[in-house]
Amino acid sequence: MIPYGRQSLDDEDIEAVVDTLRSDFLTQGPKTEAFENAVSGYCGATHAIAVNSATSALHIACLSLEVGQGDVVWTSPVSFVASANCARYCGARVDFVDIEMGSGNICLRALEAKLLAAEQAGKLPKVLVVVHFAGQPCAMEKIHAFSLRYGFHIVEDAAHAVGAYYQGRPTGSCQYSDITVFSFHPVKVITSAEGGMALTNSDKLAARMRLLASHGVTRDPALMQGEPEGEWAYHQITLGFNYRISDVHAALGLSQMRKLDNFVARRNELAQRYDRAFDGTGVRPLQVASDSRSSYHLYTVLLPESVDRQECFRVLRAEGVGVHVHYIPVYKQPYYRALGFDAAYCPNAEHFYRRLLTLPLFPSMHAKEIDMVIDKVVQALSYDPAAVQRSKEDC
Ligand SMILES: *Cc1c(COP(=O)(O)O)cnc(C)c1O
Repeated sequence: MIPYGRQSLDDEDIEAVVDTLRSDFLTQGPKTEAFENAVSGYCGATHAIAVNSATSALHIACLSLEVGQGDVVWTSPVSFVASANCARYCGARVDFVDIEMGSGNICLRALEAKLLAAEQAGKLPKVLVVVHFAGQPCAMEKIHAFSLRYGFHIVEDAAHAVGAYYQGRPTGSCQYSDITVFSFHPVKVITSAEGGMALTNSDKLAARMRLLASHGVTRDPALMQGEPEGEWAYHQITLGFNYRISDVHAALGLSQMRKLDNFVARRNELAQRYDRAFDGTGVRPLQVASDSRSSYHLYTVLLPESVDRQECFRVLRAEGVGVHVHYIPVYKQPYYRALGFDAAYCPNAEHFYRRLLTLPLFPSMHAKEIDMVIDKVVQALSYDPAAVQRSKEDC
């Protein structure tokens, strides 16, 4: 089975991990700092805080923005559950902004309409968690303009978008957001096995996130209340967590950072091969905006309306193509249904979800494997010219 995503590790990565295992530091040593510096340097952000997952990073991002009970956090329904759960960890309510069909990112018109309604009702969100679906950056400049007009904070869930560019700058620059979060889970663009990072240009948010990621404990005399007891003093000044990354993981992440641009270039090359082949077949690739470079964490397509996705999925899996579906809209999850969300809460997300299919894409895939997947997908559609025509019309 060709999986939908797969990590690419080489001997250099393995040596980096082994070297760290032989060193004095297994955690919170020089590799963690070097990994943070490599990522913040690449992105052009002032601060990077490495943690054990993107989920942890999203949690401390929300906490540092003082999300709590009585607050509302908005996010995209077409995402992994973690984009919404971070608000629930803080006791806040979650709401979803519908997506646009071309990219799967949140729809600016839906966002503006929802903001207007929320303003009138006096229930504006405290934070908007935007998701760069599949690695295509959202229209951050416009979303940032809304945040100034309506007074909310922006967290970029860039779990898919490590190595993406928007208006000539890397995602993670935080030019248009308070905080950007990356994931280094093995299916993502680069990996540290498990790991995540929070980037920000705010000294204050960075200090809060660092504190929250490590028990709420500080050794900085300036932050202590009262006189330090001695040189050994450490003061817990808030309720934090153990969200630290280990130096073993950071060593892998650091080694992978050196390959990031090659990985993303290869992902783009393979994605273009898919795009070209699907032209005229009724299979609709996601759109990439002209002011962006997608990191292509996922290669997701929309199948023609007339195709039975369930059947297509089954046939392709049986043929050894590890297709997947990203994602079941978050509000459909039993946990969110129990909070009162309707099973069809966002119409575009529903429409998108019914048609989507993720095809295999990872840097070590061969062009031949891409061509094999293309052939099998086209066969599985059992090519129907009427369906092609209809799907062209609804583009
Ligand atoms: C993978 C993913 C996460 C969670 O990442 P972890 O590092 O596994 O916690 C969060 N958001 C999105 C959009 C993701 O795809």
